[in-house]
Amino acid sequence: MYDTTLRDGTQGEGVNFSVADKLRIADKLDAFGIHFIEGGWPGSNPRDIEFFHQAAKRKYKNAKIAAFGSTRRKKIAVEDDPQVRLLLEAKTPVVTIFGKTWLLHVKEVIKTSAKENVEMIRDTVRFLKDNGRYVVYDAEHAFDGFKDDSDYAMSTWQAAAEGGADVVTLCDTNGGCMPSEVARITEAAMAGVDTRIGIHTHDDTGVGVANALAAIEAGSDHVQGTVNGYGERTGNCNLITTIPNVVLKLGRRSVPKTSLRKLTELSQFVDEIANIRHNQRQPWVGATAFAHKGGMHVNAVQKVAHSFEHERPDTVGNNRRILVSDLAGRSNIVMKAQELGFKLTNDTPELKAILTKIKELEHEGYEYEAAEASLALLIRKLLKHEEPPFKIEGYHASMRHDGNFAICQANVKVKVEDEFSHTVAEGDGPVNALDGALRAALASHFKKIKKLELTDYKVRILDSASGTEAKTRVLIETTDGKSQWGTVGVSENIVEASLQALTDSIEYYLMLKK
Ligand SMILES: [Zn+2]
Repeated sequence: MYDTTLRDGTQGEGVNFSVADKLRIADKLDAFGIHFIEGGWPGSNPRDIEFFHQAAKRKYKNAKIAAFGSTRRKKIAVEDDPQVRLLLEAKTPVVTIFGKTWLLHVKEVIKTSAKENVEMIRDTVRFLKDNGRYVVYDAEHAFDGFKDDSDYAMSTWQAAAEGGADVVTLCDTNGGCMPSEVARITEAAMAGVDTRIGIHTHDDTGVGVANALAAIEAGSDHVQGTVNGYGERTGNCNLITTIPNVVLKLGRRSVPKTSLRKLTELSQFVDEIANIRHNQRQPWVGATAFAHKGGMHVNAVQKVAHSFEHERPDTVGNNRRILVSDLAGRSNIVMKAQELGFKLTNDTPELKAILTKIKELEHEGYEYEAAEASLALLIRKLLKHEEPPFKIEGYHASMRHDGNFAICQANVKVKVEDEFSHTVAEGDGPVNALDGALRAALASHFKKIKKLELTDYKVRILDSASGTEAKTRVLIETTDGKSQWGTVGVSENIVEASLQALTDSIEYYLMLKK
């Protein structure tokens, strides 16, 4: 497994890593058991040079660090090419260079002869080998070049092997190949080139991973890709998908088996560093990868987990999730409640009341898939018949426009045990003002709520089913710095709906978060 998140991955829109980010990701990949980590292109920017400088001082347990660059330029001796020099100065055990396979590029883009291109490849590989490096030769446009002129393509790959390349990687640089072509051309390379054959694919037609698997089945055993499929255009081959496919579906040896359980964490970690929202539909590791919604599916999964799952979610460090929806029957609620930590079974007397209540609320427009904290509160209230920690006895919110500014003011009357408090706050909107007033009222009783912070606030207008006024559903997300939870409120009035979601959020924190 050869990871190029730090080089090809950063070609993707919205992906940027500082040197410190790159070092953290490299540590994580190393601990996970990735075999090669391509750190960057020292010839392209000072940031990458700095990364290699820092990386050279560290010890990596499993991974070898690779510097990426190109073959020597035309009409210049390899030892005089400054870009090649920088590759050696990066002091990495592995150097990966790319070169041209496709005559179209040789003639029209770098404008040199077919013969000189072959020499550029052979010279550069040999020079790097003579300097003690493990050399990966990336054959750019390998498949397009082979389809255009197979004899020439083969001669460029053979030149790399003659120069001593440890791996010749066939690259689908434009990402337009189909798995059957990749398999056929990889087989040809296996037969005609006397060294290990690698594969580097892009996902332009949605088959980046499928193409890598096709090459592996045709004999390749070196796969290049990126975490979460970051990369130019639609991205590179996604290693997070490829790894479990190689290990669990093709039954091949790859990263250590114990690492698979850290796959979801690795995927989330890299998104976190890149500041990209985790793709919930990502195969294997997404939040919905093992989520069950339909009542019949849930019922079956409860009896025999593998009846609707191709693999156990914990194999890759993911979790089974049961989605609550009005499609669902009692099995859903029982499993969901157990997942939330309640001791609920099919025989719990309160189960019927809980089910009825949830159906009633869903009909009114409540939705619990993104608001599990509200659901947990609801179940707890119906199971335990206890008083909430505080009660809002009344509130008032107003808004005025003073010359240039709109200011909102809210006051809230709250009852905690037998004590009333009455507080006022201002905000840039009515919800913000109410939130401020409510927290001020509660802060003296519950000091820990100072840590709470709203991280998301979403409003949706629901179609009116009854022909009366349209309803508003508010979903909010709160964090205490350690974990996040979602709550929901529904009303014909947006302020009222928001206050419900806010109240649920604080109650959940006080009652269920220990
Ligand atoms: Zn690429």
